[in-house]
Amino acid sequence: MEKKFIVETSARHAHITRETLETLFGKGHELTNKKDLSQPGQFACEEKIEVVGPKGSLKMSILGPCRPDDQVEVSYTDARALGVTPPVHESGDIEGTPGVKLVGPCGEVEIAKGVIVAKRHIHMTPEDAEVLGVADKEIVSVKLDTARPTIFGDVVVRVSPKFALAMHIDTDECNAAAAFGKVYGEIVK
Ligand SMILES: [Zn+2]
Repeated sequence: MEKKFIVETSARHAHITRETLETLFGKGHELTNKKDLSQPGQFACEEKIEVVGPKGSLKMSILGPCRPDDQVEVSYTDARALGVTPPVHESGDIEGTPGVKLVGPCGEVEIAKGVIVAKRHIHMTPEDAEVLGVADKEIVSVKLDTARPTIFGDVVVRVSPKFALAMHIDTDECNAAAAFGKVYGEIVK
């Protein structure tokens, strides 16, 4: 059985609530799907926003659909440019994280929290988990098969029937491992 999986790089992006969407882009605005992502139902949007921190600002895409909370996912290089020091958290875990200002063509929203550096993770279905011999929330190490082979520790396994098998790293991790193009990873114990 093939135990390798695709490794995808997530560039900085924002998840926003419907309320924030309407403040930034106007009442009744709907997100425009630019590209479907590997995870079913998730998509990159045409809409871009400016994220403003104490030191600088960065343009980034929105990932749809809308979520219950605003969340900005950046690399540490991005965080340095913004002037914030977010913790490494799993997506959705925004307690105790810094805030920033989100700016769109129709308005802006100051969020009190929501900036994270996403903890590297592998999405998979229960069937994938069985094949790979891992469980939801398990922490594993993954070796990336690149021109600059790299083993990443502290990778969290996330199991759901709604997921598709893929590992997600950020742009700093991508650069560190030269994980460009089609890259595969393998769990090492
Ligand atoms: Zn992910």
